[in-house]
Amino acid sequence: MSGREHLSEDVVLDAIYGIAEQDAEEHLRSCPDCAGRVSEWKQTRALASGTGELSNELTGEFLAAQRREIYQRLSEKPPRVRLWAPVLAAACALTVGVFVYHPGKEPKPVANAEVNDSQLFADVFSMEQSFEPAAAASVRVLFEEQQQ
Ligand SMILES: [Zn+2]
Repeated sequence: MSGREHLSEDVVLDAIYGIAEQDAEEHLRSCPDCAGRVSEWKQTRALASGTGELSNELTGEFLAAQRREIYQRLSEKPPRVRLWAPVLAAACALTVGVFVYHPGKEPKPVANAEVNDSQLFADVFSMEQSFEPAAAASVRVLFEEQQQ
């Protein structure tokens, strides 16, 4: 493993138990990220096993930092949620409204328009078919009457 790559979880575990290779130990000394992971693991292990492996000062510092981070996350997130909640709710309401409203409203006029168009054409066609002969006949009758 090169010094630049972060330690894998296995190497971090090795480092916790002090059996990591030399370059891993060197990486830990130069990389706060991995050193933090190791101390986090150590903290977890210490808490799990009940052995106060870390000094109270370190533990308190670590827990305080963890608590600050948690509080920061807690205090950061709600405003975002509160800001987005009405927008999301409005968007949801709109979406639901559109989905609920449209099938009832839009397809019907479209369907009616199609039906109306085809019905209109059918009506016009049937009217032409039924009326033209009659009209033509009556016109013919008129013509015949006038001619006679
Ligand atoms: Zn690292």
